[in-house]
Amino acid sequence: MAEPILRIRQLKQHFKLGGGLFQKKNFVYAVDGVSFDLYPGETLGLVGESGCGKSTLGKTLLRLHEPTAGTIEFEGQDITHLGEKAMRRLRQDIQIIFQDPMESLNARHTIGMILEEPMMVHGIGTPAERRERAKALLERVGLPRDAVDRYPHEFSGGQRQRIGIARAISLKPKVIVCDESVSALDVSVQSQVLNLLLDLQQEMNLALIFIAHDLSVVRHVSDRVAVMYLGRVVELTDAHTIYSSPKHPYTQSLIDAIPIPDPRQRDRERIRLTGDVPSPINPPKGCHFAARCPRAMDRCVTEQPQLITLSEGHEAACFLNE
Ligand code: SF4
Repeated sequence: MAEPILRIRQLKQHFKLGGGLFQKKNFVYAVDGVSFDLYPGETLGLVGESGCGKSTLGKTLLRLHEPTAGTIEFEGQDITHLGEKAMRRLRQDIQIIFQDPMESLNARHTIGMILEEPMMVHGIGTPAERRERAKALLERVGLPRDAVDRYPHEFSGGQRQRIGIARAISLKPKVIVCDESVSALDVSVQSQVLNLLLDLQQEMNLALIFIAHDLSVVRHVSDRVAVMYLGRVVELTDAHTIYSSPKHPYTQSLIDAIPIPDPRQRDRERIRLTGDVPSPINPPKGCHFAARCPRAMDRCVTEQPQLITLSEGHEAACFLNE
């Protein structure tokens, strides 16, 4: 088996709140000990409701937030504490596409300037070569070459996301974190953008981390899926198994929330998810899902279930699987 391109171990991102001299210190446990490997050319779906920490995890592994603890390895090199200069070089290889391209595209810059900027920062090509590459990138993502002279507000949401993708691939990265990249788009536009991403993945052997709150979107693009709840991964396995044989009640509830045309297809009781994800500020000691879990037991409130291997490549953190 190929070596992982990205290896994350016990990664934590705790944000301090308050902290005045006589104030009690509170922490937001946004990411709380996450481990996984990502392989070249694969798509890892990262799912969970809003507030589960998946976007913070995506930004932390790109070092857009400094990790509180844990390690990040890229191609076997520990990059957890890499200096800013070395990290800037590495950002050629690891890119991110955000949900709202309008926020990440400078409204006062032409599309040409937006696409050429990363190449300029990394000293790639002459101005004429960069302009030509910007046009070629636009063509590759399905936009006209003359879009280089236009501004972001002249494009639709789907077209702006294509521009975001063009910028992300401009430096020929090896990993792209897609942070809710299609969540704001209409369903038909969503599938076009997803297909574009998958085509590029094949062409470039890209590894994708695909962050979404919607399991039905992740289902179509992922090789493996990690389900996050309140800062922790609670289940991780291949995309087929996560849908056909979920082992964590939270995963089951997310799957049960996907509408199905024929309810008779279900041979187990459905779990209806009620309430919201609890606050990640000083979360409870035991299983974070205990307050919403219909199968919670006494020990779930006091003990934290660990992620254990159930079968090859399938891990879940729930006492029901012991
Ligand atoms: Fe539910 Fe307990 Fe399993 Fe947590 S450990 S998911 S509370 S049964």
